[in-house]
Amino acid sequence: MSKSKTYNITCPSCGTQQEIELHETLNAATDPELKQALLENRLNRVACADCDTTFRVDMPLLYSDPSHNILIHWIPETKTLSREQIIDDFDESLEQINGMLPADIKAPSVRLVLTRVELVELLFMIEAGMNPRVVEYVKYSIYTRNMEMVDPAKYRLLLNVQDSTDEELLFAMQNIETQELDKVLRYGRAAYDSMCELYKESPDEFIEMFPGPCISARNLLLDDAADEVG
Ligand SMILES: [Zn+2]
Repeated sequence: MSKSKTYNITCPSCGTQQEIELHETLNAATDPELKQALLENRLNRVACADCDTTFRVDMPLLYSDPSHNILIHWIPETKTLSREQIIDDFDESLEQINGMLPADIKAPSVRLVLTRVELVELLFMIEAGMNPRVVEYVKYSIYTRNMEMVDPAKYRLLLNVQDSTDEELLFAMQNIETQELDKVLRYGRAAYDSMCELYKESPDEFIEMFPGPCISARNLLLDDAADEVG
C-alpha cells in the first residue's frame, strides 16, 4: 500500500496556500500508476489554484518494490539538511533497524538517494538487471580520468539506461546548480560486462568501496575531497 497525507502548501510564486495530498510511501507493486507518475515527474506536483504555477514538492519518499525485494528512501537535501547529515542520520537509523531484526529474516536491500533523478536512474537500473555498484565504479573511473571536465562538485553523472545500447552505456552530465543536462559520455558495454564478471568472482572490493545504503561515486569523491581539505 502507498500512503499519502494532506499538507498545507504555499505557492512559491504567489503565496496562495492550499491543502494538498502528497505521497510519502509508494509501493510499485500495488500502485504502478504512482510509479509512472514518479518516472514522468508528476508525483507530488502541485498546480496552484490561484496562478498558473505548477511546482514539485520534494519531501522524503519511501519507495518499495517487493518484486525486487528493495526499499529505496529518497531524502531530499534542503537548506537545513545537508548531504552529509542525511547520510550520517540514515546510517545510524539503519544500524538500529538491523540490530532489531531477527537473524533469520531476509531483510530487503535498502538504498538511499538524495534526488529524484537518482531514484529514477536506480529504478531503470534495477529493471534492466544492472549492477548499481559496478555502474558507480564506472562513474568513478569516468570522474577520476576526466577531473577537469567532469568535476564531481559541479556535475552529477546519470546513467541513461533507456538510450544505452549493446555496445555503449550513455552517461549524461547533469549540472548540479542549474539541473540542466550537459554532455553525454560514452562507455563501452564490454568493459562494464567484464567488470560485472569481476564482481561475481570477488564482490568484496566493490562492496568495500560502495557499502551503501547511498551507493554513489560522486558522494565518495566529494567525501574524499572534504577529507583532504580536512
Ligand atoms: Zn500561485
